[in-house]
Amino acid sequence: MSDKKKKRGSTAEEARLLTILDSMVEAVYVTDAKGRVTLTNSALDDLMPKDVVGRRAKNVIKNDELKRAIRRARKKGVAGQVELEATIDGKDHAFHAQISPLPDGEGVVTVLHDVTQLRATDRIRRDFVANASHELRTPLTAIRGFAETLRDGALNDRPTAERFLQAILRHALRLQRLAEDLTTLAQAESLKQNFEPVQTDLRAVCRDSAGSLEGAAHAKGMTLRFQLPEEKVVVDVSPRALDHALTNLIGNAIKYSPEKTTVTIRLREDRDNAVLEVEDQGPGIPAHLRQRIFERFYRIDGGRSPEQAGTGLGLSIARNMIDRVGGELSLVPRAEPGALFRITLPLDDDDEDEF
Ligand code: ADP
Repeated sequence: MSDKKKKRGSTAEEARLLTILDSMVEAVYVTDAKGRVTLTNSALDDLMPKDVVGRRAKNVIKNDELKRAIRRARKKGVAGQVELEATIDGKDHAFHAQISPLPDGEGVVTVLHDVTQLRATDRIRRDFVANASHELRTPLTAIRGFAETLRDGALNDRPTAERFLQAILRHALRLQRLAEDLTTLAQAESLKQNFEPVQTDLRAVCRDSAGSLEGAAHAKGMTLRFQLPEEKVVVDVSPRALDHALTNLIGNAIKYSPEKTTVTIRLREDRDNAVLEVEDQGPGIPAHLRQRIFERFYRIDGGRSPEQAGTGLGLSIARNMIDRVGGELSLVPRAEPGALFRITLPLDDDDEDEF
């Protein structure tokens, strides 16, 4: 036990109480009848830069609502709850505070629950639902519009009817792609989804992923070039997750590059890592969008018609998959034209069994 604790908990009962307080994730401070801090726990010590015992509570966390609630608890014995925002060490935090009076007006206990992370997750979820429903609404509105026009007479005009049916089909296919990507994204993010690692020769994954896209490359007169080492590069990884990410990168390289260009698939060992790269000769990605392209639903090609555009989910799924298998996926900044995506996977640690 630290010296500080010995001073704080002079009796066995106090020591017991302090141990309980220190094991809480919530930050706690107790103030006396004059509003001075008399007791804190370690979670509060982690939040506050200085030792606050002896200072006035209103100077500890400067928040008017909290101050009022503490005063009310002290004077009137009324417990309260307050949501507050505070900047601590230059970072914005959101707290849920529970304020309870001690018996006989002795003081007040304030319990601060840091809900910053919870709020951020909530916001991401809300944005995701808003984006997903927007993406679903566009093709649905189009399908409904074409179907209504057909019903109201266009069906009798054969060439127009055929055009509308083709459009309905294109939008339906887009909806299907979206549904599939959303399912894959959910799987990639779900911790329940097991990406069982097995000893995998990365050269085989490169060949298989690219192989499934040979037809697409051929259709645009493009060449898939391999730069793979002579020796096996074996990593303990889920081939399914890696194949999914790699297929997406090679697919994008084909989709976004002009006809008759080359996509290079490269594999090498670099110290403790296996490095996989997909390089194309397309338009590349502007430096300021280097991170944004990994966001869900983000697309650069706003000018494309919605039914031709991708879902904007591919790279976020790929990054999730690579995260799940313990690697990293990034877009490499470069001066030359074309995009260069890199996957880094840690090579097996030979010493691992010793631990
Ligand atoms: P999408 O389904 O739209 O392809 P992605 O998440 O895979 O979604 O990609 C996001 C955006 O990044 C794409 O809309 C595209 O504008 C851009 N992008 C991805 N890969 C490339 C590439 N190899 N070259 C140029 N732009 C790319």
